[in-house]
Amino acid sequence: MAEQAEDIDDIVDHPAGANSLEHDDEPSSASSKPKNAFAELMAPKRKAPASPEPEKRPKDKAARWRGALVQYINNPSSFGSQVLRVTPNTVLIKDSFPKATVHLLLLPRSEKHSLLRPNEAFADPAFLAIVREEAASAAKLAAAELERLLGSFSVSNKPRLEATDYTNRPPGRDYLKEIKVGMHAHPSMDHLHVHIISKDMHSPKVKHKKHYNSFNTEFFIPLVDYPLADDDVRRDVGFQNGNLSKDFKCWRCGKDFGNKFTQLKKHLEEEFEEWKKE
Ligand code: AMP
Repeated sequence: MAEQAEDIDDIVDHPAGANSLEHDDEPSSASSKPKNAFAELMAPKRKAPASPEPEKRPKDKAARWRGALVQYINNPSSFGSQVLRVTPNTVLIKDSFPKATVHLLLLPRSEKHSLLRPNEAFADPAFLAIVREEAASAAKLAAAELERLLGSFSVSNKPRLEATDYTNRPPGRDYLKEIKVGMHAHPSMDHLHVHIISKDMHSPKVKHKKHYNSFNTEFFIPLVDYPLADDDVRRDVGFQNGNLSKDFKCWRCGKDFGNKFTQLKKHLEEEFEEWKKE
């Protein structure tokens, strides 16, 4: 898919401030750099927009992006190893823009529920039970993958790795505890999807505030919390916009980085090294 060169979060609208790095310590954008006449002369000419209605193009593109997950449901075999499992109820895929070491999406196939928002879809207890069961199984798969990738760095996993009696191995580190299973309060993609993600947020795809805060505030709603009560504050749009605009807090030690994204990213690298060793 040629369109996978960028993340939907870069092209769809977000609540005010969610993606803004205005107050951050990021380097200024290319457009604010001093102009270099030679570079400008040699730069490729911008192509004229092909559409006769250029103002409509970004909207169409965003709509196509938002609908992209249905392709995995309709045609899983065309995605090769990105699709991990297909059952009568769900399709399990690797997220194309993983925000952590392991990041999977579980896509329910039920046409009746697929285009509903999480609060509406999970009001159906039978459907919720099926999704919970398959998400639990997907979380085990994610934990096994995390162990495969990082198990050799872990102190608590060492006895397991070094055991010579394969029939009676010690348990080792519980990687399932490092996996989160849940929903974004206001998903950007149209089709219902459950995030199955390791806690680390160690990824070059974590590029701005929404990417981090959507997984590390109450904007991320654990699947076990559904159905939400009618008066649950997490249903409230204003509350959730507030979550996306919050200061950055380290998921592991709780340190507050204010709006300093670069500092947070550096800290996440350090925490990743320590977390691997646990
Ligand atoms: P949400 O904010 O809950 O809607 O998250 C949507 C997730 O889908 C994000 O983690 C994206 O990285 C991921 N995503 C976006 N487009 C695609 C795509 N075409 N294929 C697979 N994953 C995608």
